[in-house]
Amino acid sequence: MMDEDRIISKRDIIFIMILLIALSLVILIIHFNKRTGYYVTLSADGDVIETFSLDDDMEYRFETEAGFNVIVIEDGQVYVREADCRDKICVNHSRISNVGETIICLPHKLVIEITE
Ligand SMILES: [Zn+2]
Repeated sequence: MMDEDRIISKRDIIFIMILLIALSLVILIIHFNKRTGYYVTLSADGDVIETFSLDDDMEYRFETEAGFNVIVIEDGQVYVREADCRDKICVNHSRISNVGETIICLPHKLVIEITE
């Protein structure tokens, strides 16, 4: 009787482990899909002006009376390639690729943010 119980619980453990592995795979797949579902949001003075997919490589020229910024989306990363602002903080900022990361150009009141 005792032996039989032990065999059943061993099988249960194996079954639970298989379930856990399957669950981990599902979580990994969801996580991967999420990563490719990121967006790049451009805001000026607090208003969202453009939203781009982080998956599509492109170049966008943001221009106001204050000046311009050339924003580049490349290989899932975003950076400012060129700008005529006085501090060039946006141009010198490292590339961003994670949700919540931002590049801010204070002189142009431009905020580039990665969102889901
Ligand atoms: Zn700037």
